Amino acid sequence: GRASPPLAALSQVLRLERSRRTGIVFPLQKLERYLAPGTDTAPFRLFQPGLAALQRAEALFRSDRGHPIDYVSSAVRVDHAPPPALPEVCFIGRSNVGKSSLIRSLFSLAPEVEVRVSKTPGHTKKMNFFKVGKYFTLVDMPGYGYRAPQDFVEMVEAYLQERRNLKRTFLLVDGVVGLQKTDNIAVEMLEEFGIPYVMVLTKIDRASRGVLLKNVLEIQEFVKENTQGCFPQLFLVSSVEFSGVHLLRCFVAHVTGNLPTVEAS
Ligand code: GDP
Repeated sequence: GRASPPLAALSQVLRLERSRRTGIVFPLQKLERYLAPGTDTAPFRLFQPGLAALQRAEALFRSDRGHPIDYVSSAVRVDHAPPPALPEVCFIGRSNVGKSSLIRSLFSLAPEVEVRVSKTPGHTKKMNFFKVGKYFTLVDMPGYGYRAPQDFVEMVEAYLQERRNLKRTFLLVDGVVGLQKTDNIAVEMLEEFGIPYVMVLTKIDRASRGVLLKNVLEIQEFVKENTQGCFPQLFLVSSVEFSGVHLLRCFVAHVTGNLPTVEAS
């Protein structure tokens, strides 16, 4: 298999000096000190696991003989999805938001996992199911666009509405451009169905600190004012620098019920 990239594992991150380490593991906290005094930072720290929890989560994402991590199947209809035997999370977002890159980063310690991409225009878009040992499944939902075809909308709606084992939906938003009109399609769907979800800001290595802060604060305000089902803490990630990836693994482990306790750091 491929070698895992640098910083894919916590052990590598722990060798960095403190401030760099915080930026990689807790990228949102890194922004805190640039906020105006008096800004409410409570939503920055709702999920703040300690090292032990981060390590336990990482072990789930590291495959070995007794713990296989595999692509299972693809489906265009929810009734073709694998049986809902395990807790499940799904990843959804506009085309090009960085979804395949993020899923590849999450699975970088299981290099045999193939994260397929079908980007050919006109190609049928599918849901791809991955199985993480006997612990949970992760679904790569097809990317949506400005003119999402009706059959796509129906597939996603049916999945979100009917999938009984779905524990959390991760809605990816581009960290450079922020929340777009097309993202509202997904937000409205999730809100209408009353499904718990969380927003993930991608490609943060490409956004200047100012742009990132603006997008973070805008989205936090949006979440507070307009949503019921969205977790108030944003997750920031870069698949290039690996920032936020370890924390996201930990949150996935947590929401799928695979971390008995999450002690504060
Ligand atoms: P998808 O359509 O949502 O699966 O998006 P991809 O993962 O294919 O990413 C779209 C483009 O953004 C590609 O050119 C990626 O190389 C780039 N990209 C994705 N994630 C990141 C990131 O974290 N940082 C940077 N700089 N580029 C990224």
